[in-house]
Amino acid sequence: MKKPFVTKQQVEDIVKDFPTPFYLYDEKGLVDNAKAVYDAFSWNKGFKEYFAVKATPNPVLMEILKSLGCGFDCSSETELMLSQAIGASGADIMFSSNDTPAREYAYADKLGAIINLDDFTHIDFLEETIGKIPETISCRYNPGGVFQMSNGIMDNPGDSKYGMTKDQLFEAYKILRSKGARNFGIHAFLASNTVTNEYYPQLAGQLFELAVELQKETGCKIAFINLSGGVGIPYRPDQEANDIKAIGEGVRRQFENILVPAGMGDVSIFTEMGRFMMGPYGALVTKAIHEKHIYKEYIGVDACAVNLMRPAMYGSYHHITVLGKENEPLDHVYDVTGSLCENNDKFAIDRQLPEIEMGDYLFIHDTGAHGYAMGYNYNGKLKCAELLLKEDGSVQMIRRAETARDYFATFDCLEIADKLNHILESERN
Ligand SMILES: *Cc1c(COP(=O)(O)O)cnc(C)c1O
Repeated sequence: MKKPFVTKQQVEDIVKDFPTPFYLYDEKGLVDNAKAVYDAFSWNKGFKEYFAVKATPNPVLMEILKSLGCGFDCSSETELMLSQAIGASGADIMFSSNDTPAREYAYADKLGAIINLDDFTHIDFLEETIGKIPETISCRYNPGGVFQMSNGIMDNPGDSKYGMTKDQLFEAYKILRSKGARNFGIHAFLASNTVTNEYYPQLAGQLFELAVELQKETGCKIAFINLSGGVGIPYRPDQEANDIKAIGEGVRRQFENILVPAGMGDVSIFTEMGRFMMGPYGALVTKAIHEKHIYKEYIGVDACAVNLMRPAMYGSYHHITVLGKENEPLDHVYDVTGSLCENNDKFAIDRQLPEIEMGDYLFIHDTGAHGYAMGYNYNGKLKCAELLLKEDGSVQMIRRAETARDYFATFDCLEIADKLNHILESERN
């Protein structure tokens, strides 16, 4: 059973100030979870979680994570700007990008961020761009092949565009060292949304062995190992959630078996989780506004794929609770749709739900990561607000809804901007 973190009554109060649709984030949930992450890795002195900003790029949520010790994993200029704006700099920022534009390297360097090179050719590119090789630097590893766990879950690093081959990696460290680098990191992201406690420990085992080999062969001092993201969440009600404490213990065992005997017990463990940090603590709240009976039964809601793209893009499952009907029988089968002129704009297909009446509020679960952030503006639809349900029960708007004025803002290079402004004013938009 998946339980919403708000009641129907709470949502009825919230909509008096903020109309649906909106994203709602649960401060208590995300704080407790972040503390549990730090507790699970407290055995490692240098542990740091660099929250993957792309998952939920909101400065208020980032500030909460920062207050709990998190840094930020960025991969673009605007993510770096957000991190800078909330006071992160230097080793609080990990710049794990790929296909990186020169100006972004320059900006990351200006902030003193730790730069994580995605490719061998970026050694020269970085040096040409910033005029040096930083003292602290990291490289992203791609072992190729498939990454398989005992439960059959696998992912396919050999097919992914990221990282360097093993040979390139060894060569890269030697070159970086000769150019003045002193502290080295290793980064790898080999499987996504893993709902098993095995992923990080297995990845850690591989990276720790690699680190020992690297340090021996190249003489480079391995300062940190970055397990990156990929720790998943149970989107479906029948899935069992990861146990972060068990994951931390699994990584510790590998650390003690592999790194400690090699005299590398001072290596810091870093993570760059996005989904695990925020996914379950955000929901898209939307209202049923139409019902349609043709060859199937449809419920039309006031949100659409512009607000949450994952189901349309990946066919992702997001659990839906009809607020106030938590205990009613699931005796109806609906497609829950948005209003885009795209037939994949469906939050659920053939979903068993209680009978939905117009005006019911639907709580779309587990949208706190890669939800709002993936939004776009197809069909000229506007993105909704983000709200924070605070620990004291109050609600704070942490991003306003987009307006038509925002949507038209980039026509300010045209004369028609005046006409649009005139229309906006007469429509009081
Ligand atoms: C997307 C991404 C993450 C976060 O991934 P999650 O699956 O949300 O944990 C971390 N690091 C890098 C480099 C990424 O691209």
